Amino acid sequence: MISLGIESTAHTFGIGIITDKGKVLANATDSFKTKKGGLIPNELGWHHEKVKDTVLKNALEQAKLELKDIDLVTFSQGPGIPFPLHVGMKFAKEISSKNKIPIVGVNHCVAHLEVGKVLTKAKDPVLLYTSGANTQIIAYEAGKYRIFGETLDQGIGNFIDVFARYMGLGFPGGPKIEILAAKGKNYIELPYVVKGMDVSFSGILTNLKRKFDSKEHKVEDLCYSLQETVFAMMVEVAERAMAHTGKKELVLGGGVACNKRLREMCKIMCKERKAKLFVPENQFLVDNGVNIAWLGILMGKIAKRNHKGIDIKPYERTDDIKVMWK
Ligand code: AMP
Ligand code: MG
Repeated sequence: MISLGIESTAHTFGIGIITDKGKVLANATDSFKTKKGGLIPNELGWHHEKVKDTVLKNALEQAKLELKDIDLVTFSQGPGIPFPLHVGMKFAKEISSKNKIPIVGVNHCVAHLEVGKVLTKAKDPVLLYTSGANTQIIAYEAGKYRIFGETLDQGIGNFIDVFARYMGLGFPGGPKIEILAAKGKNYIELPYVVKGMDVSFSGILTNLKRKFDSKEHKVEDLCYSLQETVFAMMVEVAERAMAHTGKKELVLGGGVACNKRLREMCKIMCKERKAKLFVPENQFLVDNGVNIAWLGILMGKIAKRNHKGIDIKPYERTDDIKVMWK
């Protein structure tokens, strides 16, 4: 079986193609970027409208396939921003009805976890999911992927991007902050906000903005301290989830996991507790259609495959999904 997955929850329009054996045949994406300023929800939708046909063409070319070879069309239903989500769903329905291919809608966060498992061969991991909009520590327990900890306000990537934008850097800010942080040496104390198993970033953001405005610190030191602080928060909560569940594997997901310092900190933590760290390739950490296509394969056998009544679910949570495919 060959599944084509469409990702459009936020900045990235992606189409991935994967087989039911987990062989990736294509991963085509086009992401919204800016030199200055951040994301504007409507512009994301228009961006996806503009690039969708080209991304589909690129994906089919990479896979050396035609639409008649596709057995299942999958799209991300949520969580995400309504307009871009809608563009992806509409495109999925068009492909499905024109070519008479069954269609399945899937959850974006669960897709990150499942693709991490199939690509790295992790069996029963804790997922540290650090992306633009989502920040969650997820693990399977009793029929569902449970959220053991999460952000109480914005996602870690959004937090990093907003501070980058404040300093006059464009979107995405994460890679730019990582470069600056590598040149920082002096740790400047920042609030460290872990509440139970949850984290929060808005107070740290305000504090960083004030420190930036005061011009008392080097930008490199601010970026270094930002990374050291918020990554330590994430690693602390991930470690506690592993201790609580007794799981011995950690999988990383989400674009912020492209960051080398975050990976290094996770590696040290896993080594200390004799656990294994699994990191998928960067192209599967950031938003992409392969994740979606793979969860489609898993859910395709049990989900509704007719597009009547299928809709976007902008607020769907990881633990709303009953895991029937395990
Ligand atoms: P996603 O929403 O999963 O596609 O990930 C996008 C987010 O990842 C954005 O907020 C980026 O700024 C962030 N990101 C990408 N690369 C890095 C990096 N090297 N360090 C930190 N954040 C990053
Ligand atoms: Mg994501």
